[in-house]
Amino acid sequence: MKKILINDGISKSGKQKLIEYNFNVIDQHIDQDNLIEFINDNNVDGILVRSATKITKEIINECPSLKLIGRGGVGMDNIDVQHAQAKKINVINTPGASSSSVGELVFSHLFSMARHTYHSNRTMPLEGDFNFKKLKKNYASGSELRNKTIGIIGFGKIGQAVAKIAIGIGMNVLFYDKNIKEQTISINFYNEKEVKFHLKRTDFEILLEKSDMISLHIPKQEKPLINKKEIKLMKKGVFIVNTSRGGIINEKDLIQSLNNRHIQCAGLDVFEKEPNPNIELLMNEHISLSPHIGASTLEAQQRIGLELAEQVNQIFNG
Ligand code: NAD
Repeated sequence: MKKILINDGISKSGKQKLIEYNFNVIDQHIDQDNLIEFINDNNVDGILVRSATKITKEIINECPSLKLIGRGGVGMDNIDVQHAQAKKINVINTPGASSSSVGELVFSHLFSMARHTYHSNRTMPLEGDFNFKKLKKNYASGSELRNKTIGIIGFGKIGQAVAKIAIGIGMNVLFYDKNIKEQTISINFYNEKEVKFHLKRTDFEILLEKSDMISLHIPKQEKPLINKKEIKLMKKGVFIVNTSRGGIINEKDLIQSLNNRHIQCAGLDVFEKEPNPNIELLMNEHISLSPHIGASTLEAQQRIGLELAEQVNQIFNG
């Protein structure tokens, strides 16, 4: 019976599936410092992690029983994938399982910014009982998303999930992706109807100039893609959302543009310094904040667990 160590948790259904497939499942978090010893003492064949556990070169070298490393989620920043593959260890992840959850979080930020609810949730508990009329006036200048233009940068799985929701609520969609020139996306409805849209890439600068709202969906970059220069091209009053990776927007330039009101509002799920984001971002009253929860829905976690279990079974049992 192959042993699978689940080190950062997995959905009940994923764990159940692994048991059904006859794996010996150890669902226990082992601290980073004790991981090598535990894997060797227990002859662990496969380890499943999320983002908390790091699978380093050292672990890969010191644990000869390991034949599989699985990441529940997308980014593989915490796994030395190259080294694992060089050692013929299978490395798997679940690239599509959380796309629609991240897409929905983008709209959670956008709707909240458009109607100021992220802000009224901060002030209502403090002033709502004696300053109701003043607050009502403060938040009276809301806007609708319908008929606005959203510019999606990075048109992979999550960018396309965002486009589907945007089209569904009547927005105009522009996208820029360095590798994708055109893309057909299918929107599926509850009554099994399907509508297809064919979209063509817009130049990066034109997207920046024409969008009322911009959402970022590219992988981690060496340097920020959005700096002062790019912000200058954007419409005054633009909304910007980053649910991809910290550092894709230059945080200093973002704060400056929020304070001089060129950018009206930002929605941030990811930060340059996680888990200790810049306090100036956390305290800025023009930012709708969430603590890197894009993939954290019950539905995505279930899909992730099941997808991992299927892949583990495929690798060990064919
Ligand atoms: P994907 O690989 O499907 O798509 C990424 C797209 O970005 C690709 O089409 C690629 O061609 C494009 N791209 C790469 N570099 C670019 C550049 N410099 N300019 C323009 N386009 C570029 O990835 P995905 O699944 O859509 O994920 C997108 C991002 O979301 C990743 O950074 C991922 O880590 C992040 N993510 C965040 C959360 C969260 O919890 N907030 C959850 C899942 C994924």
